[in-house]
Amino acid sequence: MNYRSKGKGQRSKTTMIAALLLVASLAQAQRPAIGPAVRPFVRSDAAVIALTNARVIDGTGAPAREGQTIVLRDGKITALGASGSVTVPAGAETIDLAGKSVLPGLVMLHEHLYYPTGPGMYGQLGLSFLRLYLAGGVTTMRTGGNLNGYVDFNLKRGIDSGIVAGPAMDATAPYLNGGPFPLRQVRILKGPDDARKMVAYWADEGATSFKAYMQITRAELGAAIEEAHKRGLKVTGHLCSVTFAEAAKLGIDNLEHGFMVATDFVPNKQPDVCPAGARQQAFAAFDPAGPVASALIRELVARKVAITSTLTVFETSVPGRPVPPGLEVLVPQLREQFERQHAAIARQTDTLQGVTLKREMAMELAFAKAGGLLVAGTDPTGYGGVIPGYSNQRQVELLVEAGFTPLEAISIGTLNGAKYLGRDAQIGTIAVGKQADLMVVAGNPAAQISDVRNVEIVFRLGVAYDPKKLIESVKGSVGLH
Ligand SMILES: [Zn+2]
Repeated sequence: MNYRSKGKGQRSKTTMIAALLLVASLAQAQRPAIGPAVRPFVRSDAAVIALTNARVIDGTGAPAREGQTIVLRDGKITALGASGSVTVPAGAETIDLAGKSVLPGLVMLHEHLYYPTGPGMYGQLGLSFLRLYLAGGVTTMRTGGNLNGYVDFNLKRGIDSGIVAGPAMDATAPYLNGGPFPLRQVRILKGPDDARKMVAYWADEGATSFKAYMQITRAELGAAIEEAHKRGLKVTGHLCSVTFAEAAKLGIDNLEHGFMVATDFVPNKQPDVCPAGARQQAFAAFDPAGPVASALIRELVARKVAITSTLTVFETSVPGRPVPPGLEVLVPQLREQFERQHAAIARQTDTLQGVTLKREMAMELAFAKAGGLLVAGTDPTGYGGVIPGYSNQRQVELLVEAGFTPLEAISIGTLNGAKYLGRDAQIGTIAVGKQADLMVVAGNPAAQISDVRNVEIVFRLGVAYDPKKLIESVKGSVGLH
């Protein structure tokens, strides 16, 4: 399926050329000089690095290959094969990876540079989050909504120019939403023309993606999609007032959080109104194997709408689930705030959240098996506890719990994200000619998925980063910067 061709018919010649130039510049992601704020986290930036005796899990879903050598040169993979068959170039820095696995860097599409710090308020955590994402093996991320205006774009430029440590970033504009809206950091659209104007403004400021939210009207969403597609940019949504089927017809590219937030199943749903309270009950009551579910899946697959799985953020609200990983990086107040609420949820006896999570997993599996593009993200919002990097690994584990094989789950977290972004020729898998964006983990996640947590080295554009140093630099202070 070609996810890049969407909306092409609406583009004018000039914007087509602009889009082609953009694609060309993305294709040649340059390895920037390493700035002084990034240098402390670099383990090696040798021009040629050979990884030997590695187990390679290439991200395509193919079985793991043992005893491989990978040669990285100037940010690209230039050789890959059985250790005896690949010559290690003279002068290469060699890293022996016996007992370890090499995976593509994660490509995750529902990330944020903010975190819930108080009731209804979100604090900007760009610098610490970017380090944690990179430490966790994320080499490309899309922010799935922006509450902070220019920060995402400025940090993206900082990463691209080598002065900020972090993954490559697809930066999303501030939310597109109607009113009334409880989030105090979001602007309220005044109608379809306003939506078009807002998309145009942020596209000019450097937004490479857009996100619609729960109170947008169909007219506003349609106008926003049209304007974004004219510029070769994509629109995703965490919707409520607009159903998934309506959004698919309007040409949306992606829907966040899977089917749990769909209002398609709510009886007597009023057009353009978010029936927030009725949504979860309707989802818990409906049959994931029934005709309503399969008709919606067929519609989304036919219209090439990708679905983002964000099981990590839902898991925190389900009684009896494990405490999420990575809480130790938070400032003590935020950590205690989360732990108190998590403990209160653990004492609940209501089974609705648990039923909903299982149902969501079943729907995501059914969507992927029906040929839909399922992508992954973490969504570090909710009431907290979804910690960048750690939760990206957890998200891959949860896909296995949903019924995917470990190899499929890894592919969803790497190749599928790259496909959605239209960058699968450069990233998302391990192959000669691809960008050297890789994660090295101890153990074998193809056999035991929890081994994705054992990240020892992360390569981005062939530069080896040290996850321990990245984490150490923010430990106990995440919440402040
Ligand atoms: Zn989100």
